[in-house]
Amino acid sequence: MPTLEKVHSRDLFMGRLGYGQDLLEEITAACTGQNIRLARIEAIGAVQYARLGYYDQNTLEYRFFTIDQPLEITGLIGNVSVRENEPMVHAHITLADKAGNAYGGHLATGTIVFACEILIETLDGRCFERKFDEETGLPLWNI
Ligand code: ZN
Repeated sequence: MPTLEKVHSRDLFMGRLGYGQDLLEEITAACTGQNIRLARIEAIGAVQYARLGYYDQNTLEYRFFTIDQPLEITGLIGNVSVRENEPMVHAHITLADKAGNAYGGHLATGTIVFACEILIETLDGRCFERKFDEETGLPLWNI
């Protein structure tokens, strides 16, 4: 049985991120600055280059890789919850190169913004806190 909690939409924040900024760090800073602790996120735009993660389910470790070229953000989707009492952004991203080939993965620091339009929808609900999960080795929601 899936574990679900009811949440309610509260506010929408819409804006853009600055050229040359780290994509994940900027989203996190936006959430910290607005005291956002529960939200969903979407964004489109472009990056100068990207660093993504792939979670290896055998070793229970992230493998990080860099895509060293300009790319379109064809989709970024994520959420904000709480880890160790701080807002934590978890986002996945799909990127396209000049031929339209797509890359995707877990957004990591080291992805640099060319231009980015972001929408953050804040939510009211219980605290979704991340705790270490033995089975997966991941910080999952403690709900
Ligand atoms: Zn992820």
